[in-house]
Amino acid sequence: MGLGAKRRTVLVTGAAGFIGSHMVDRLLAEGFEVVGLDNLMTGDLSNLEAAGRDVHFHFQSGDVREPLHVYAEIVMNFACPASPVHYQHEPYATFTTSVLGALNLIQMARGRPCTILHASTSEVYGDPLVHPQPETYWGNVNPIGERSCYDEGKRGAETALNDARRRLGVDVRIARIFNTYGPRMAFGDGRVVSNFLVQALVGKPLTIYGDGSQTRSFCYVDDLVEGLFRMLRHGPLDAPVNLGNPGEFTIAELAELVRELVGGVGLERHPLPADDPKQRRPDITRARSLLGFDPQVPLREGVARTLADFRARLGEDVVAGGA
Ligand code: UDP
Repeated sequence: MGLGAKRRTVLVTGAAGFIGSHMVDRLLAEGFEVVGLDNLMTGDLSNLEAAGRDVHFHFQSGDVREPLHVYAEIVMNFACPASPVHYQHEPYATFTTSVLGALNLIQMARGRPCTILHASTSEVYGDPLVHPQPETYWGNVNPIGERSCYDEGKRGAETALNDARRRLGVDVRIARIFNTYGPRMAFGDGRVVSNFLVQALVGKPLTIYGDGSQTRSFCYVDDLVEGLFRMLRHGPLDAPVNLGNPGEFTIAELAELVRELVGGVGLERHPLPADDPKQRRPDITRARSLLGFDPQVPLREGVARTLADFRARLGEDVVAGGA
């Protein structure tokens, strides 16, 4: 990647979100010109504090559901509420952000040299009947349930983007992102890692949904961003690529880890939400062989780093009268 006059412009949609903002920081560090678009539906401008001090970063308030008029050689599409609490609160906005967003990006990119790297999700596999999930698995998704606005929206976006690659020759690359955690996760997003850390830090019991035997694979955000960056550097990729950490843990194990790190924290049982997948673990064979992708940060270390970030931010919020 050249610097100075050769800087290439990347449009990052959902730039103020958790993953989007980490990607922005990485792209700036790699010498790109970065335009960050966000409608702040779930994003937070404080995530862009560091980026905002860089002359090569340009924030635009905007919505991917509207026609886009940005010139960029690369688009990284993170625009969409991603936590069940957020997306179920605004199901229509979630669905349209995925599908209309993808269609608008295709319109923007078609007919000119523009690569679209789209953030899809392990949710396209639904409550999987195949374990671990390879990219060739078509999934087990409820089309009319509580999670459908997100799952089917993301599946629809993949459909539109794949057609754009086949029919219009757009360079589309699709990352299927599995559970990712790290600094800057929103406190109120209802994700298991953020819930447990906030609960532990304010001295409340950790809320375990169901019996805690359901599994997830947690990827530290820096590892994920490395995988996404490798997808960008790679040539065209005509099939989706799973990105995540294949280490698989039960929710009860995660709770134990948080209890070890914080100490003196209780547990509380809650009912399992509808359509909650029982098992999830990425098969990252494709990412490993194509990209040399190999997540480095063990869960204990990643959770400890995230805990430090939460502690610092919660402290500020308490001082500001927030939390
Ligand atoms: N979960 C939990 N307690 C919480 C939040 C989530 O036990 O306070 C469980 C949830 O039921 C699910 C898993 O943790 O089985 C991961 O949930 P999350 O919302 O983080 O991600 P997703 O379900 O989208 O993978």
